[in-house]
Amino acid sequence: MRIHTFDTTLRDGTQGEAVSFTVDDKLAIAQKLDELGIDYIEGGWPGSNRRDQEFFARAGELNLKHARLTAFGSTRFAKNRIDRDPNVRALVEAGTPTVAIFGKTWDLHTRRALGISEEENLKLISETVRFLKDHGKEVIFDAEHFFDGYASNSAFALRALEAAQSAGADVLCLCDTNGGTLTPRLAEAVAEVRRRFDLPLGIHTHNDADLAVANTLAAVEQGVTHVQGTINGYGERCGNANLCSIIANLELKMGHTTIGADKLSNLASVARFVAELANLPLPGHLPYVGKSAFAHKGGVHVSAVLKEAATYEHVPPGVVGNRQRVLLSDLSGRGNILYKLKQHGIADRLSEDARRELLERIKHLEFSGYELEAAEGTFELLVREALQPGLHFFEVVNFEVSTKVDGNSPPRSTATVTLQTPQGVHTATAHGHGPVHALDLCLRKCLSPLYPSITEVRLTDYKVRVLDSKRGSAAKVRVLIEWTDHRRSWTTVGVSDNVIEASWRAMTDAIRLELMRLTEHDESIDRAVEDYCWGV
Ligand SMILES: [Zn+2]
Repeated sequence: MRIHTFDTTLRDGTQGEAVSFTVDDKLAIAQKLDELGIDYIEGGWPGSNRRDQEFFARAGELNLKHARLTAFGSTRFAKNRIDRDPNVRALVEAGTPTVAIFGKTWDLHTRRALGISEEENLKLISETVRFLKDHGKEVIFDAEHFFDGYASNSAFALRALEAAQSAGADVLCLCDTNGGTLTPRLAEAVAEVRRRFDLPLGIHTHNDADLAVANTLAAVEQGVTHVQGTINGYGERCGNANLCSIIANLELKMGHTTIGADKLSNLASVARFVAELANLPLPGHLPYVGKSAFAHKGGVHVSAVLKEAATYEHVPPGVVGNRQRVLLSDLSGRGNILYKLKQHGIADRLSEDARRELLERIKHLEFSGYELEAAEGTFELLVREALQPGLHFFEVVNFEVSTKVDGNSPPRSTATVTLQTPQGVHTATAHGHGPVHALDLCLRKCLSPLYPSITEVRLTDYKVRVLDSKRGSAAKVRVLIEWTDHRRSWTTVGVSDNVIEASWRAMTDAIRLELMRLTEHDESIDRAVEDYCWGV
């Protein structure tokens, strides 16, 4: 059956605590949602804030091929005449073909929040719906708190729906506004509404009981044909129903049509696009679209998916635009790394011993607290060292670093480094703003006469994290350093209970990697590394 999708990322989604979009962001997202094949895009509440008013004023810039732009608002205020109500007027002036208005269906809210009688509430609903219909709008009636209202006083809740239906509403959308309704009770209420009403029904759920997607699917099973949600489940409190999961489930598991099978493969990229504009990391564990949704780490899982993906994957990742990832870790068997290296033709170039040794090195490093997944530079260096075991640009003989703070003058660090290279022993001393800076300068002084290109390599980010906080300031730390040489960027990792040593390891790995890359450009290594670290 054809199920209509209604996206409210730009309205309900922005009520999520960490979510904020500029008008430009909102326009870009609306365009993307249209390309994805979403049927309705709720752009905002023009009666409530200037940003949403501006969005609708600029909506002419959009080139929507499929979606119907929708403005959101409430039924008129009790004290206002319908034609003088600023909120309702703003809805008309937003110029959208569709409007969604919410009205009260819970007796508690009508009495307490609005302080009006049931009759008055029904009048607000029917007058507002009729007014908007008279202005040529398609009207979706959002029955706010419908399920709580139905549980409290079902006759009252159903009369509110009747008022909307008889005034000409096009869709009756049942809302689990507080998000706490359990699935069997929600399904029962939807079934009862289905028996009594002929109009298309919609569902709008929140995730406070972690059931928003399940409740939406249960409502569809009871005959609902219009589903509301947000990309990545953004929304107030615990969020709205995640429209990405709803779409994938309806299409792949329930035999319904929403955006269509061909567009389904854009789902993961739209999820990432919206997360990027929200300036939020996309949670890795998000079903279907997260980077971990098809990631395999346990050794048993890995060896099984390598033989047959369906053993540990509920759908093929490609159908939603995601991909299988096989992770390396101390949990895994040999299958993981061989999988990566085989995929890119590297495994065949290693002897059996070299393979075993590489695997042991990786297991040992991860056991010591290295996080190779986040440090593709260090991983790449390990692979390259396995491929070219004799290639040693330098060995560290020793290093020393000290920091002096004297009175109010700025702290000063001094380092001395001695390296053994094939050309001889090199020692350098340098002063820096801090110990990492001083060591970095020494490394360059020793090596740049031999390898001038390393002057291009520059630190761009530095992160340190305590690994075993029980040991207090003696704890082991992990240092992740990001580098660039103007052509590409990479991250290296060092672990030690001495923060200087951890930094030094990450630093020397970065320089060694750059030198290895310069001696051999190898695209298959690039591809294996990129694949391994995809999305990190
Ligand atoms: Zn909502």
